[in-house]
Amino acid sequence: MAMPPMSPSGVLGLPGRVTSQSEPVDLRTADLQLSGTFLPVVGPARIYVCGITPYDVTHLGHAATFVWADVLGAVLRMTGAEVVTSRNVTDVDDVLTRAADARGRHYDEFALSQEFSFEQDMRALGVRPPTHQPRARHHIAHVQQLAAALLRNDRAYVREGHVFFRGAGVVAQAGLDADQARRLAAEFGDQPDDALREDPFDVPVWRPSGEQDPAWPSPWGWGRPGWHAECAAMAHATLGHGVDVLVGGEDLRFPHHAQQAAMAEAASGVGPFARAQLHVGAVHQDGSKMSKSTGNLTLVADLLRDHPGTALRMLLLDRPWSRAWEYGPELLAGAHARLDALFSAAGRRGASEAATSAATACLLTDLDVPGALDVAVQEGGEAARLLVRVLALG
Ligand code: ZN
Repeated sequence: MAMPPMSPSGVLGLPGRVTSQSEPVDLRTADLQLSGTFLPVVGPARIYVCGITPYDVTHLGHAATFVWADVLGAVLRMTGAEVVTSRNVTDVDDVLTRAADARGRHYDEFALSQEFSFEQDMRALGVRPPTHQPRARHHIAHVQQLAAALLRNDRAYVREGHVFFRGAGVVAQAGLDADQARRLAAEFGDQPDDALREDPFDVPVWRPSGEQDPAWPSPWGWGRPGWHAECAAMAHATLGHGVDVLVGGEDLRFPHHAQQAAMAEAASGVGPFARAQLHVGAVHQDGSKMSKSTGNLTLVADLLRDHPGTALRMLLLDRPWSRAWEYGPELLAGAHARLDALFSAAGRRGASEAATSAATACLLTDLDVPGALDVAVQEGGEAARLLVRVLALG
């Protein structure tokens, strides 16, 4: 049978970004490129998303991470890849234990109530449920297996009920100097000044529990997992020995993701643990990072009272994913206007292959959503409808 003629290239004299698109994108062979790294996928694409510690309500900074993780999955699906996501819940954590205590509640029951609110927010934001949602307290045996594997490889040692991972090499791998690394390790509760450790960057895979802490029996005594070890174990348990993309907020780059990846590689011998990382830029408010501890935050649930989830998605997505930005309520009017422009473009006739191809190319090039939206709004038709579908804005 005669093959149909090849579709023309994108150089059709169309205005704007479309003219620079010389070849149509063939989604059967197209690869996503993240931060300069092409990610060809054969078989399922595995995404691990560092999830919530369920001790308080969701703010816009959290939402940014989960909405971008959602779009990452959608763009990979657009290329025909099967996508498997694992988004953990850190429900064994000292901050959570203290928050539950302060309210006179048991940590796991309190965590479940917070998870329920989080999931309501995610649904309203159109974030698709992950394939796996591991909870730390269900993976205690996996953390103990991780500790045993690290001890067997001499990548960990036992001290007074702790199992410490030898993390000294992580600092250089992360491209940090020792002072910067020490400051960050202290800020995230790694206790680099603890005299029990052979090196300041050794971190607990397992640690003994106090009276108020959740505790499980182990070969090293009653205790509980360390934070980085929880994520290493949950990623292994749900996705296997490596992932295609490790996702989290920018502040999780070090020490959390650096230690998690190093532990996973040391235990399994398989590396790199993550082929690429997506660290979503922080959301600031009143000049500093939105944070529960400082109280300068805007809650997703509050914004949802006056704005549809699609407008909040647009607010979060119409910017480079890696860049920190300052939230102000005035930005919501811009997000609504951009959404209206996209919908009206989607209603226009026309199905220029070149425009659709240009929008697709933007999405595949480091998830350039603002660039894809520019093409879609300008060209309209199928390019705009593609954006509504892939970004889940309908
Ligand atoms: Zn994590």
